[in-house]
Amino acid sequence: MNKNIIIGGAWPYANSSLHLGHIAGLISGDVLARYYRLKGNNVLYVSGSDCHGTPITERARKEGRNPRDISNHYDEEFRKMFDGYNFSYDLFSKTDNDYHKKKVQEIVRKLYDNGYIYEKIEKEPYCDKCNRFLSDREILLECPECGVETKGDQCDSCLHVPTTDELMHGNCIECGSKISERENKVLYLALSKFQKQIEEHTLKVNNEWRINAKNETAKYLKQGLVDRAITRNLDWGVDVPIEGYEDKKLYVWIDAVLGYLTDTMYLCENSEKSWEEFWKEGKNNKIYMCHGKDNIVFHSIILNALLLGQEENYHLVDTIVSAEYLNYNDQKFSKSKGVGMTALEALDIYDSDSLRYYLISNGPEKKDTNFSSDEFVAVHNNEILNKFGNLVNRTLKFKGLEEIPEGNLDKEILEEIKSTYEKSGELIEKLEFREACREIMKLVETANRYYDSKEPWKQKKENIEGFNDTIYTCTVIIANLSNLFEIIMPKSCLKLRKYLDIKNASWNVIDKVKPGINLDDIEPLFNRI
Ligand SMILES: [Zn+2]
Ligand SMILES: [Zn+2]
Repeated sequence: MNKNIIIGGAWPYANSSLHLGHIAGLISGDVLARYYRLKGNNVLYVSGSDCHGTPITERARKEGRNPRDISNHYDEEFRKMFDGYNFSYDLFSKTDNDYHKKKVQEIVRKLYDNGYIYEKIEKEPYCDKCNRFLSDREILLECPECGVETKGDQCDSCLHVPTTDELMHGNCIECGSKISERENKVLYLALSKFQKQIEEHTLKVNNEWRINAKNETAKYLKQGLVDRAITRNLDWGVDVPIEGYEDKKLYVWIDAVLGYLTDTMYLCENSEKSWEEFWKEGKNNKIYMCHGKDNIVFHSIILNALLLGQEENYHLVDTIVSAEYLNYNDQKFSKSKGVGMTALEALDIYDSDSLRYYLISNGPEKKDTNFSSDEFVAVHNNEILNKFGNLVNRTLKFKGLEEIPEGNLDKEILEEIKSTYEKSGELIEKLEFREACREIMKLVETANRYYDSKEPWKQKKENIEGFNDTIYTCTVIIANLSNLFEIIMPKSCLKLRKYLDIKNASWNVIDKVKPGINLDDIEPLFNRI
């Protein structure tokens, strides 16, 4: 039976360009979305630009611009970039759109009415010199966990999120003054009330999570969930749908993680589908969240709490697909230090399919991995071009061959093809995309060995039937590769399907191709760098 599957790709923050490390973390979502679609499931792959929050307001203030100009600029850049990498989102929206804002307000209102949001008068960090309340990331402090100097939203080094008390020991990031306190009215989400439910749910589903997600979530649950402020003193963001909070906005984390749900609602309102089929219990559905390791608890804890608090039988997040980091020449990507290139810059130089292949086959799944241009060029030339590109070339561009001949498919090869679907499919479902990639490339290697052993250049002169069988068998392999590699190198696979007159990709074994297809127009899939 077909499943209803949500794949949530983390919402990139629309304040700076994304680099290759971001793509390495996000591309797992595209692999899953493509795979489950090929298997015939109803998939909605959703994401969008995260437009609100303090970094954008800070920057807008510094540059004398409107925050919307900044977020629109990056939102457009993200769209261009994701298109360039062939991300197959069903919807990439943004938090700064009216539909999203209205739905978020409805959800927050429901949480309030259900008693999960309460008011607290509290002392908040205030800078007397700058004359305003400071957000977490406008505070510099020494991390109480690891001692490194960090911004107040999250420690870059150990990922600790400072408490309100800890923040009071910091300094204003703008003027360096010691922080003072002022009374302020704040709404809190009673996260602590969800401790037991989230604990039980996590134990039920976390066996397929990566170790970083298990550990990070367990750490928070062990400490005990702490209620979190949901309103900020900002003028950029979603209005608080509760009386007396007209001068404040919702905190960005509550707004952005609800985007998966609001995207689904929007898509379904504009089609025949029902969003409840994807997000309610008992509907044969599954929810994946794909992001980097700095985003885990927002998806494993906070999003689930927001769903539970609506008391409307929501299906919680099943699977956290959290990547480690991709480094650049063994250093952290850093715009300010000029380390690394943006994802768009890489597209200007390199082929998008090769980049996808490299980022997936070398993905930071269980530990940090590295991008280096030398290694990338080696993978492009030695694996993608010499193995895959060459198989296509030497088969479909065989000297003097004008059309695909009639022939018999080699029985052993057919078995290899079947087992490649099974093994690589299993690996994808276990979130082992690197290994899945290797498994598919193994079929290419098998095909090349088969080709060499048959010596079709001799067969053509001495044994034309044998020659036809060899070319036919290799063409069937290529047809199957256009399915298998669709999740990794979609641009090339589309070309192959056009060449071989195959309508759609699927995760089904192809055991025949149409003989007689003219081979005049076939071009090499890749060029040597
Ligand atoms: Zn720290
Ligand atoms: Zn200040």
